Amino acid sequence: MAKIITCAFCSGTGKDPFELLSPLSHCLVCNSTGMVQIDFPVKRCLFCSGTGKNPMGARVACIVCGGKGVNYIGGIIECTQCKGTGKSGDGLPCSRCGGKGLN
Ligand SMILES: [Zn+2]
Ligand SMILES: [Zn+2]
Ligand SMILES: [Zn+2]
Repeated sequence: MAKIITCAFCSGTGKDPFELLSPLSHCLVCNSTGMVQIDFPVKRCLFCSGTGKNPMGARVACIVCGGKGVNYIGGIIECTQCKGTGKSGDGLPCSRCGGKGLN
């Protein structure tokens, strides 16, 4: 089931939140529409805490959710490797669940 949600990366403004090229540069996550489509059910992205921004410092979209701030969860089984945190010890997304915290 697909739903339309507000783009987390640009907070629905449709503009690049980091203004990399100019203050008018477009959000690449939602293609400047301010909204993104995602399949439900979803869970807030653990890696970026739902912000859609890469928490590792780079001014790019989160590598786990692609900037949407949420991830589609096909199952409801907590990842056994990261115990549902979505993170591995070195600050990278969990290799088993890809940072979603679920398998
Ligand atoms: Zn956007
Ligand atoms: Zn994310
Ligand atoms: Zn995991």
